[in-house]
Amino acid sequence: MPRVCVVGLDGASADLIQENLERLPNLRAIATQGMFTVLHSTKPPMTCPAWACFMTGQPPGALGIYDWEDMRLPNPPRLSDWSLRHVPTLWDIVSAAGKGVLAINVPLTYPAREVNGAMISGFPVLARQQDWIFPQELRARLCQLGLHHVQELNPDTFRLRLGALDEDEFLSHASQSIQKTLAVTQHCMKNYHWDLLVTVFVATDRVQHLFWHYMDVAHPKHKAVPSEKHKNAIIRIYEEVDRAIGALACALDEDTYLFVISDHGFGPLYGSFLINSWLMELGLLKLKRRSRPSTIGLGITRSLDKPFVAQLSRLMDKIGLLGFVRRALPAWLGSGGAVLGIRELFDSIDLEATQALALSNGKIYINARREEEKEIVAQSIRDELLQLTDPLSGHHLDVQILTKRELYGDSCSGGPDLYVVIENYKYSVSSKIVPGRLWEVPASVSGAHREEGILLMKGPPAAQTVLWENVHIWDLAPTILSALEIPVPAKIQGKALAGIPTVI
Ligand SMILES: [Zn+2]
Repeated sequence: MPRVCVVGLDGASADLIQENLERLPNLRAIATQGMFTVLHSTKPPMTCPAWACFMTGQPPGALGIYDWEDMRLPNPPRLSDWSLRHVPTLWDIVSAAGKGVLAINVPLTYPAREVNGAMISGFPVLARQQDWIFPQELRARLCQLGLHHVQELNPDTFRLRLGALDEDEFLSHASQSIQKTLAVTQHCMKNYHWDLLVTVFVATDRVQHLFWHYMDVAHPKHKAVPSEKHKNAIIRIYEEVDRAIGALACALDEDTYLFVISDHGFGPLYGSFLINSWLMELGLLKLKRRSRPSTIGLGITRSLDKPFVAQLSRLMDKIGLLGFVRRALPAWLGSGGAVLGIRELFDSIDLEATQALALSNGKIYINARREEEKEIVAQSIRDELLQLTDPLSGHHLDVQILTKRELYGDSCSGGPDLYVVIENYKYSVSSKIVPGRLWEVPASVSGAHREEGILLMKGPPAAQTVLWENVHIWDLAPTILSALEIPVPAKIQGKALAGIPTVI
């Protein structure tokens, strides 16, 4: 019976792998014996919607998960419900079919579900509680092996940004996290029966966010002398995960499909466009008279208002995160932390007088009751955005603007009215307001997500290998189910890819 092993490399870039294939022998072997293509992520290409789509086989519109946060005007922003309690996931479907599941370090799997096998939750997770692992006895065994928990890099990312950790320490922790994830995965492979194994290495994402400017000589933050030391930091991490893939691949039998995937790609981040400052200049966004602070929406708000805390608490409580949020939210959430800042921003806005406002990652929400009114505001935003010029060179910028329908189809509820991408994400679109300022260079990150992730696949010798094209991340769940000879539930909107036998 065929089995499926999926190795996730969070944020792995198809371009970087293609350029460095000579240094990545295990990925090269999969690409030559099987295939290597681009895996299209969600819009925005964020870890939260992308992994949710991966494990459900549903596009963002079907899940109502567009980013870490969303908003339905006139109501304030809310955290997306990524608990996925009411949607069948790969883990549920494969377990219900009586097959063995191992899910290790997959983002959005906290708290761990009861599966026919084992689950170790990935980011975001609370390591101090015990519900990050199923079954409980595995926890004791991992502790005995010195493998307490694999997901530890997010607090490190925060500490590095705050200057509480230096770059060498961060890179050595990143390497340790790869070794730990590998060791935990190997331990589970030996000790559990499995038909589907999904294991995710997160170091690729974190290191690319923080070290991109050392490698990229054209980056505005690149400085020749200090760059020398870390210019290979990112490629070294790719080499390490490549060796880990080699170690996992050699334990697989001939009948196993091996997938290597990323939830989104990566590229340089040169600057941020402060879209709400810009909407203010256009007169489409108005602040309340009394709120004229110098900066709004910086990330972690200073004064949390009660209704929002209550809503956050309810959601967190539902997914078991409340205790952790109280203690460690700033150290744990990267983009999620910005949700609090966005609520502060929302509270500063005079909604009655505001026609448009944006949340993080280029999501614009239009505040109008009638469709025609919405269309007029959308058109004026579109016209103005297309005039944007590069703050560094003065050149005209390539701005992509998509409507809700273009993004998510006709039947979605929630989600932004417009979505903006500048120079294919070389400039991020920030929700922060700094009156009088439209652009800035992000202080601590120099790399950012792209829509083009990776998909490498090597099937059993008997399977026909077809080069897949135009594959979306939500097509993987039905493809994996087909490879496991499990019927794909009719509600799943993703399409099983050709070359893998379909079970009806
Ligand atoms: Zn990611």
